[in-house]
Amino acid sequence: FLKDRTALVTGSTSGIGLAYARALAKEGAHLVINGIMPPADAEALRTGLEKEFGIKALFSPADMTKPAEIAAMIADAEKAFGAIDILINNAGIQFVSPIEEFPIEKWDQIIAINLSSAFHTTRAALPKMKAKGWGRIINTASAHAFVASPFKSAYVSAKHGIAGFTKTIALETATHGITVNAIAPGYVWTPLVEKQIPDTMKARGLTKEQVINDVLLEAQPTKEFVTSEQVAALAVFLCTDAAKSITGATLPMDGGWTAA
Ligand code: NAD
Repeated sequence: FLKDRTALVTGSTSGIGLAYARALAKEGAHLVINGIMPPADAEALRTGLEKEFGIKALFSPADMTKPAEIAAMIADAEKAFGAIDILINNAGIQFVSPIEEFPIEKWDQIIAINLSSAFHTTRAALPKMKAKGWGRIINTASAHAFVASPFKSAYVSAKHGIAGFTKTIALETATHGITVNAIAPGYVWTPLVEKQIPDTMKARGLTKEQVINDVLLEAQPTKEFVTSEQVAALAVFLCTDAAKSITGATLPMDGGWTAA
């Protein structure tokens, strides 16, 4: 049902972003994928998606900490496809450290990638979306948009921020056929989660098994990781006509985490 639509997904070379891209392409959407990846691997990913789903795909290596590169990515996408119909702000990183030792450059980088990049993409993509009178903006928030965990000050701040940004842009676009929502997953087994395990082991003095069971899954009443495919399926639903009255929402998909 997304034939003739174009979806741009930031941070889509891996994890949840790649799952969004695949799920939207399965519905016929053309893709702009983005992320940090060696050029040869990115080209293989791009052509693989084109072949598997019979769509057109563009790869942008834009660094989400660089506003000029983000603007160029949006311009390239619009040149290739006319307009971005579905914008998914998903690129994100994590860093785990007590505040006193939290590196200043890590704070700046997390705020830039996890929060400010959504401002830059949305700002640039909205004029063409408004002109078409249809659009879907979906931001990957997190359970950390509602609750905090210690040692994740930058991440929790950025994710709370993206929930506020989502509400604001929903109000600004409400009469334009555009919805703006965020999805707030609990723990999803991706490289982002895997990479934080050693630092959490260090910060809390735990073994790997203890981090998985007593820190990560402890938060989730279902005791199961959420899957990238489940998150992507909700994004696909948000693109349907049935979802046109859902706007300004940050929707939890967290195995009950934020109910507790
Ligand atoms: P991931 O590490 O698998 O993927 C992150 C993606 O972002 C990759 O494509 C990477 O190349 C890209 N990226 C990183 N820095 C970038 C930069 N400077 N410029 C452009 N792209 C950049 O992680 P993931 O778990 O799939 O995370 C995706 C999103 O989901 C993030 O916003 C994350 O905060 C959020 N999230 C993840 C979980 C989880 O448990 N994994 C839970 C809630 C929310």
